[in-house]
Amino acid sequence: PIILGIESSCDDTAAAVIQNHRILSNVIANQKVHQSYGGVVPELASRAHQQNIVPVVNEALKQAGISPNQIAGIAFTRGPGLMGSLLVGSSFAKSLSMSLNVPLIEVNHMQGHILAHFIEDANESSPEFPFLCLTVSGGHTQIVKISNYFEMELLGETIDDAAGEAFDKAGKILGLDYPSGPIIDKLAKEGNPEKFKFSKPKVDELNFSFSGLKTAILYFIQKETQKNSNFIQENLYDLCASIQKTIIDILMDKLEKAVEKTGIKQVAIAGGVSANSEIRNRLLEMETKANWKVYIPKFEYTTDNAAMIAIAGQLKFEKNEFTDVSAQSVSKYKI
Ligand code: ATP
Ligand code: FE
Repeated sequence: PIILGIESSCDDTAAAVIQNHRILSNVIANQKVHQSYGGVVPELASRAHQQNIVPVVNEALKQAGISPNQIAGIAFTRGPGLMGSLLVGSSFAKSLSMSLNVPLIEVNHMQGHILAHFIEDANESSPEFPFLCLTVSGGHTQIVKISNYFEMELLGETIDDAAGEAFDKAGKILGLDYPSGPIIDKLAKEGNPEKFKFSKPKVDELNFSFSGLKTAILYFIQKETQKNSNFIQENLYDLCASIQKTIIDILMDKLEKAVEKTGIKQVAIAGGVSANSEIRNRLLEMETKANWKVYIPKFEYTTDNAAMIAIAGQLKFEKNEFTDVSAQSVSKYKI
């Protein structure tokens, strides 16, 4: 069966077509409107989704080389996300499913990030159950135990900011564009990660906290720029490398604790921050250092995309798990 996946939870309008766990097309329209605001503006996001959704779905069908009547089911992101954004994707998915008379399949966006690992070409091999996944994105930081496709247990999460948010807010302080994660990743390659030290939060169990780091960076930069107004420019590479290292240290520390606690050494990573080259290196190191088996998805399946919604939809389709058109979008949605 061919499944169409639609993703519109935040600021990317995306559609993908999947057949037998193989992606036939994966189309994304990035919304540039938010860049100058240093973050996503919900009203603008919703409006841009309305403009993008039809052309993006058409392009996905065209690239897949299929016509609408070949679609067997339509998967969409029910939540979590921005309400105005979610509504555009879900309304579109519902009307299309009614007009084509095919089943509707709701997907939890965070489960989608994880299930992207089961796309045929996402990794060299798919993870075996049970495995742990560190999901690090713009709005979430979670350690999840996955016992089966839809059997997921949250072991820990952030109590304030997400890891991606930490990258983005640090970038804003440094005067970088939004989203800053990829920019910091690039600049950090030229810098010394040991140059500046930022203290790490003390948080219980497998939970995370990143808001203190943001404040520490802000005060540090304010103090240094008072002494030298060119401080940021002169130290940009080292600042990026040091901030990146601090964020990754915090993540790796808890992930190692989770492996210790559960005894599960199959470890995956998902979400936008998993595109980060250094966290990929650090994870791979653990294969030799601690005998982990690490799963790192292809770049195109890390930040928001519809391929991950399509695979989750296909897996549910195989279990005949369908959704009624009355299902409402939810801004918060437990994994
Ligand atoms: P959520 O999935 O929690 O709803 P989201 O969908 O907005 O949030 P994603 O698209 O999965 O989040 O990820 C976006 C985040 O990933 C941004 O914060 C961005 O800065 C970060 N990011 C992307 N690439 C990199 C990178 N190479 N290094 C670090 N961070 C990155
Ligand atoms: Fe996401």
